[in-house]
Amino acid sequence: MSDPKDLPPIDPTTPRRKPKPEVTKIGGRKLKPSTLMMGFGYDPVLSEGALKPPIFLTSTFAFESAEAGKRHFKSITGGGGADGLVYSRFNGPNQEILEDRLGVWDGAEEALVFSSGMTAICVLLMAYCQAGDVIVHSGPLYAASEGFVAKVLAKFGVTYVDFPAGAIREELDAVLAKAKAQADAQGGKVAMIYLESPGNPTNALVDVEAVRDARNAAMDPAETPIAIDNTFLGPVWQRPLDHGADIVVYSLTKYVGGHSDLVAGSVAGAKHWMDPVRSLRNTMGGICDPNTAWMLLRSLETVELRMQRATENAVKVCDFLKDHPKVEGVGFLGLLPEGSRQQDIYRRHCSGPGSTFSVFIKGGEAESFRFLDSLRIAKLAVSLGGTETLASHPAAMTHLSVPDARKKALGITDNLVRISIGIEDADDLIADFEQALDQV
Ligand SMILES: *Cc1c(COP(=O)(O)O)cnc(C)c1O
Repeated sequence: MSDPKDLPPIDPTTPRRKPKPEVTKIGGRKLKPSTLMMGFGYDPVLSEGALKPPIFLTSTFAFESAEAGKRHFKSITGGGGADGLVYSRFNGPNQEILEDRLGVWDGAEEALVFSSGMTAICVLLMAYCQAGDVIVHSGPLYAASEGFVAKVLAKFGVTYVDFPAGAIREELDAVLAKAKAQADAQGGKVAMIYLESPGNPTNALVDVEAVRDARNAAMDPAETPIAIDNTFLGPVWQRPLDHGADIVVYSLTKYVGGHSDLVAGSVAGAKHWMDPVRSLRNTMGGICDPNTAWMLLRSLETVELRMQRATENAVKVCDFLKDHPKVEGVGFLGLLPEGSRQQDIYRRHCSGPGSTFSVFIKGGEAESFRFLDSLRIAKLAVSLGGTETLASHPAAMTHLSVPDARKKALGITDNLVRISIGIEDADDLIADFEQALDQV
């Protein structure tokens, strides 16, 4: 037994031990996200020297003192982030490291992680609107996002106005004027402009800069944030916060997780935009679990490598598909018509085309199904952004419940096959697509 005299005195004001100051610059050179992914936000000294963060499986955290516990709770109930670890519905070490690293990619002050992309989207939307408010959104959206706005938020007196992804400034001005009039009539405000770009499954791009300009001209930017679902191109090929968005949303299930072995989501932006979202997450739960957070930390170390390789593969595969006699056309961001408005948006907003695209098979559903059933390497599954190549038929699968007229308006035809290219050997993939097209 040690003599109590030997123990250090208890100092109730001792702050939580912090990691070493982060190295984010060397000789004036700002370090790139791909470098920071190996260590940012984690100091091995705090975990017995473990080079990699352990998985912290605990529901609650011991306070250094009653005074420290009070301080932590003050920050939690104040809406901002905790200055210490409190309880695993609010925060945890693995989730905090992950949030710090996600923020790095998008240049966001804060990020918040969730148990799925849809939890992130639902909590974000709920944090920003109340009865009478209007949400303006681009179309198409991921079907569950569109359903949450149109069916769930409607139950709480929130309405919406939508516009096609490719809308030009004049159309955006008209849509915002309509939304303002609708909000005035309902006694509410335009609570959020919610975008998805590229849209699923057509890859239609939204002109985020034009949306920002239209928003700034029509309403108070401090009252109506612009949020964008960046799942298809982020975090490597598109940084929407640089183009006028305030909040960036991810299904981390896709390229960020990247191995088709987890489900998670995130929301990121300036601290003042994140405060209400964090506060609602603290109340409702929905933070991602420590094991998933740890897997995502591992994924983030290779996200740039994986997305680069998948994109190189997609360029080669599309180059093969576009001239094939059994293919009507390819909807790939790397093959946008020269001089088109979509190509102009692409050049201003994106640094690469990603690896998810649509291919239109000559014929209809029967020909498309024959192609899908003949694939030997590519797996027949929905989702995207994994290391393996996936193929699906949106009209008969993800968008089966969409009414025919809307499908037609969105360009979701019976001969559209959606493909998400992985990191396999490109020539092997081409051989697979070639033999499958031979069967059609
Ligand atoms: C998959 C997806 C979502 C939903 O994310 P989950 O992680 O499945 O909840 C949202 N938006 C887009 C664009 C997606 O592809």
